[in-house]
Amino acid sequence: MSVSTYSQYNNEANIIKKALYDRGESLAELLASISVEPLLVFDDVTLDSYAKFISNQKDIVFAAVVNDKNIPLTHYLNKDNSYVESILNSKKIINIHSVIENLRNNKNILFFETPVKFDGKPLAKAWVGLDRLPYKNLFKSALLEIVWVTLGIGLFVGGAIYFLFKRKIFKPVAILMQGTQNIANFNFDKAVKIERAGELTLLADSFDKMRLQIKETMESRDLVMLELSELNDSLEEHVQARTQELQILNLKIAHEAMHDPLTGLPNRVLVTEQLQHDIAHAERTKTTLAVFIMDLNNFKEVNDTLGHPEGDRLLINVAQRLLKAIRESDTVGRLGGDEFAMVLPDISEEDAVKVADKILGELLPSFALDNHTLKVGASIGIAMYPEHGVDHTSLVRLADVAMYEAKKDKRDVCVYRAELDKYTPLRLSLMDYLHTALETNQLQLYYQPQISLIEKKVVSVEALIRWYHPELGWIFPDQFIPIAENTGLINQVSDWVLEEAFTQWRKWQDEGVDLQISINLSARDLANPGLPARIAELCDKYNMYTNGIIAEITESAIMYNPEQVIEIMNEPDMQRLQFSIDDFGTGYSSLSYLKKLSVEEVKIDKSFITDMVKDDDDANIVKSVIDLVHNLGRVVVAEGVEDIETLTQLKLLGCDKVQGYLFSKAVPVNELMAVITKIEQA
Ligand code: C2E
Ligand code: CA
Ligand code: CA
Repeated sequence: MSVSTYSQYNNEANIIKKALYDRGESLAELLASISVEPLLVFDDVTLDSYAKFISNQKDIVFAAVVNDKNIPLTHYLNKDNSYVESILNSKKIINIHSVIENLRNNKNILFFETPVKFDGKPLAKAWVGLDRLPYKNLFKSALLEIVWVTLGIGLFVGGAIYFLFKRKIFKPVAILMQGTQNIANFNFDKAVKIERAGELTLLADSFDKMRLQIKETMESRDLVMLELSELNDSLEEHVQARTQELQILNLKIAHEAMHDPLTGLPNRVLVTEQLQHDIAHAERTKTTLAVFIMDLNNFKEVNDTLGHPEGDRLLINVAQRLLKAIRESDTVGRLGGDEFAMVLPDISEEDAVKVADKILGELLPSFALDNHTLKVGASIGIAMYPEHGVDHTSLVRLADVAMYEAKKDKRDVCVYRAELDKYTPLRLSLMDYLHTALETNQLQLYYQPQISLIEKKVVSVEALIRWYHPELGWIFPDQFIPIAENTGLINQVSDWVLEEAFTQWRKWQDEGVDLQISINLSARDLANPGLPARIAELCDKYNMYTNGIIAEITESAIMYNPEQVIEIMNEPDMQRLQFSIDDFGTGYSSLSYLKKLSVEEVKIDKSFITDMVKDDDDANIVKSVIDLVHNLGRVVVAEGVEDIETLTQLKLLGCDKVQGYLFSKAVPVNELMAVITKIEQA
């Protein structure tokens, strides 16, 4: 606009300037042409009138005809003009010649001169002086006009643009901004609508669609959250109810699991437990302890000739007499068949023999059964702690050796002697052997397949330790793992198992065999502060980035110190393993812990699986556990599956994985692939 104003003004100024010069020149020319004749005839009056006539215009300051010496022959001064006025008033200049000269030199007066000629010869000169001021004012007003017009146009155009913008852009943008503000404030109810704003209308429409979608999504999200929290509450209740049911069942089963149903005496499990307890006590109090193993003579014949009911009645009677013969602090239990065991704390070998004799004395009188009266003899083997053995396994085994010796010799009582057992002269404990075993490659891992009932194939294997001693032969984990756990040697065993399992996993991966390996960890492993770092080291060494290894931890090991177990399981390095709760159902776990543990899997103890087809209680427990584990979103495994009926029932109950002799026992690695193929083809 400034540029256009400037150029317009320039144009206008040029026009005015040109008009000024044209006027001045033509006035001078006019004066020159009309002055010729009066000059020739020296008619001063006419000449004066011409000069007066010419200068009769407002903007003319003066007009004159002068001779070649610039002396005015005639002149006229515009007395209204301010310059003329000021000269005349100054009274300094008295002659007209100097007045005109003065005016001629005034910068504000434009001066024009035209020669007055006759026949080509100069007669005089015609002078005209024009006042610049009126023209200057003309310029000024022209400029003002231009500026005003331009300003007007500018204002108008600006205003129009402003209103246009306001309607088409500012207002729509404000509406859209308010719309986003509303959504940010979770207010989805106000519609966003813009009319007649072209693309912004389209934008507003799609924005509004988005608003409705968000509104819908938020509403359904709220609904889902509500349902979820309700579900969670009912799950919580469900879990609590199941916990109680399970606890009651557990107590019942625990009792049954610990007692012989026929005689009501403690069974092998409880006797072993009591023995362990008494050994610990004897160790603390530095006392001695005796273990008896007793076997009736000719019981098989009684059973065969008189029938099982009479045999059972005999056993009940024997049990009653045994209870009579011992002290309150002693334990008597039935190991199975006609085999009984007794644990006598705080007793010398001499007194132990006396008690054995007393027991046999109690058994001497005839037994009055339903239809018969009969006499039965018995043999007792005795092993002493700590003289013969320091752990429950060896004490029972040695008492058993002594009992057979007594039978062989047709004696009633026999105390264990080293020469009875061809290995005991070496008298290195099983743990010393185990040390050697770890160093000399006597240990091996066998693998038992685990079948996914969902994928219908072998997805994992449980690594079970095997020990072949060059002289003792096979020693099974049940015999040495508990002792290793008691003595702390288990950490070394587990370390060996871990290295072996990782090695095997890597090997299979490289061969394209994708099998998870479950290993067994003991409570004492979890208390080993070096375990997480060791796991991390193995994962890195064997490049285990997937869930290749599952660590099985028994429920009782967890319940021994749940807080500590949760803590160690949650260590980031430990999280590189998966976890499985082993022997579930025997450890009296509180289900609240089950929720807290980051375990992937729960293995129902095989004692429930073995009997579930015959025993409704067991079947109920299995069902409850499966439901519960599923409710918690974990995988459930049944171990100890030995027959088709059990498998069928487990399938019906929705069990995820199974393991057991029905498919395969644990086998050495070189037999495993053939076994898996056979299972998967069946
Ligand atoms: P577990 O972890 O409960 O292992 C399962 C045991 O049940 C194994 O006995 C297995 O051979 C046996 N089994 C498998 N299928 C059946 C079946 O259908 N019926 C029956 N009746 N039994 C079946 P195993 O190998 O003698 O191991 C006994 C226990 O020794 C294991 O019980 C585990 O607690 C411990 N153990 C084994 N290997 C290791 C190990 O490497 N480290 C540790 N810490 N403990 C181990
Ligand atoms: Ca296991
Ligand atoms: Ca188990």
